[in-house]
This record gives sequence, structure tokens and C-alpha cells, in this order.
Amino acid sequence: TLNRQWEKVEDRLNVSFEFFPPNSPEMADTLWQSVVKLAKFKPQFVSVTYGANRSTRDRTHAVIERLVQETDLTPVPHLTCIDASREEIADIVSRYRQLGVNHIVALRGDLPASATQTGGDFQYASDLVAFLRQQGVEKISVAAYPEVHPEARSARHDLDNLKRKVDAGATDIITQFFFDNCAFLRFRDRCRSAGIELPITPGILPVSNYRQVERFASGCGTRVPSWMGHLYEGLDDDPETRRLIGASLALEQVKLLINEGVADFHFYTLNRAELSYAICHALRLVGLPGRHAAPQLASV
Ligand code: FAD
Repeated sequence: TLNRQWEKVEDRLNVSFEFFPPNSPEMADTLWQSVVKLAKFKPQFVSVTYGANRSTRDRTHAVIERLVQETDLTPVPHLTCIDASREEIADIVSRYRQLGVNHIVALRGDLPASATQTGGDFQYASDLVAFLRQQGVEKISVAAYPEVHPEARSARHDLDNLKRKVDAGATDIITQFFFDNCAFLRFRDRCRSAGIELPITPGILPVSNYRQVERFASGCGTRVPSWMGHLYEGLDDDPETRRLIGASLALEQVKLLINEGVADFHFYTLNRAELSYAICHALRLVGLPGRHAAPQLASV
């Protein structure tokens, strides 16, 4: 039955890829090579994260600008509001509008370790969403946490917060990465019961560096199942086998979600194409109607 279901959903599969702004010429090469490679799958959009300080923020804008100028991809900037003023956000939105970008991933951002509230004009992502709506941004994606955001008082509070973001004008939801599909499916059910009807796209993190992911996960509330740890045991010095395992695990995760009717997937690429490429290739995303050859970047 898995295959039969998969065949049907396959016709309407959509992927998006997340990148982060590079901070060295070598990392820039890796990023742009990955962009070119993954463009083949005609992603719905490619998103670029937004960092905690001004220099990385300018780099987000620079990557979006280059994507607009040199590819036919749909670039989507992330925007955080922890220490931003209304004027700053309005200015950023208008610069993106000049580039023709009208879709933003709206986030609060992580608070510094010592802080309990933001230092700017916005306390929560829901405030940012409302402001972006006022500014006329057409598509606003927001974050959600199938295993609950670490600062939330309870799962119920976290869901109420997500509802606030939806009511403020969000147009779709992208989740934090998770490895337990049941956690995602339960979360999706709870959203629907709470009247949240927006599309919920699972965030998929194909894992090649297990130790790094263990650290990420503990910071963002994602549970790493013990069976997963066992799969990477003894592979600290064997990146090639880790990559093979990571690709096959994430492919299996995606196929099981397809079997549950999920058709949209957001890949956290960490700027590396290999694993996401292998997964999308195995999903036969190339050759579907409307998917054509990859755009070429002028200077790669
Ligand atoms: P919010 O939705 O504001 O929630 C933050 C916390 O406050 C939650 O615990 C929530 O339950 C609680 N809360 C919200 N409203 C209320 C209220 N009214 N009363 C009480 N509690 C409330 N970080 C970056 O720095 N840059 C990025 O580019 C980036 N991209 C991301 C993309 C995705 C898809 C995801 C899932 C996360 C991303 N993050 C990024 C991480 C994100 O910034 C952190 O997880 C951050 O701690 C929370 O952001 P948020 O937008 O979910 O915040």
C-alpha cells in the first residue's frame, strides 16, 4: 500500500530547500554549487536564514539578491525580530519588495542566554507577522514545533501561540526538524483540532554529522531516538557511511510521511546538496510535468 499511495502523492510533491548565508569564500562556493545542483528539482522556493548579528543579516540580503538576479528560483528570506525596531523591519521589507520578494519566513529568533524578553519593538513572532501583514507582505511562513518549543509553558500554550501567528496573518507553517514521525502526525492532528487549517510543511534534516545534530536537537527541543544513535555508532571517523545512512534514513522518513498524505517537504540542507539531492532524486522529482532543466548561475 505504501507504493500505491506514494504513486498518487508523487504527482503533487513539492520541495523547498533552506540555506544559510556563507561566511567565507569557500563556504560561498559550496552554497552556490548546492543551489545549482538542487535547482534541478524545481523547488517551490529556496529560503535563506537570518542570523543574530548585523553582518550575517546583510549576507542574507546579498544571497537573496543574487538568487533573484541569477536564477529563476523563488527566494524567500527569513527575518527575525528579537532586537528589531518597526522602522528597521519596514526598511528591510521595502528593500525586498524592490527585488520582487514578497514571501518572508517570520520568526522571533533565539533570545540570548541571559534574556527573558526581546529588546526591540516585537515580543513574539506573532507581533512580527501582524506588522508584515500591515506592510503588505503577501506570503508569511511561520515556525512550529511538533515536539514543543523549549521555552513554551506547555504544549497547549505553544499551540495557542501558533494559532496567534495564524490569526495575525501567517499563510503557511514550516516545522522544526524531527525524527519521530508520530510526533509530527500527532501535532498535525492537534493543529487541525485547534482550527489551524494552514498547510503544515515538515522540516526534514538529513543527518550526515550526527554529533552536531545531537547538539542542535538538544537546543531546540527535538528528541533524537536512541535507535538513531545506534545507527551512527562507530562512524565518527567515517563521514561517507554517515552520509549514506543519513540519506536513506531521511528518504524513509519522507516516504512514510507521503504515506500519511504529506506532499510538501522543507529540507534543511546546511548548504550541502548531496543528501537532499539523493533523496529528491529517489523520489523521482525530476521529469515530472512542469519540472525542467536547472538554471545556470552566471559565475559558478
Ligand atoms: P515565537 O512564535 O514568538 O515563540 C517563541 C516562544 O514564545 C515559544 O515558546 C512560544 O510558545 C512562546 N510564546 C509566543 N507567544 C507567546 C505569548 N503571547 N505569551 C507567552 N508565550 C508566548 N532562528 C534564527 O535566528 N534565524 C532563522 O533564520 C531561523 N529560521 C528558522 C526556521 C524554522 C522553520 C524554524 C522552525 C526555526 C527557525 N529559527 C531561526 C529558530 C527560531 O528563531 C527559534 O526557535 C526561536 O526561539 C523561536 O522563534 P519563533 O518564531 O518560533 O517564536
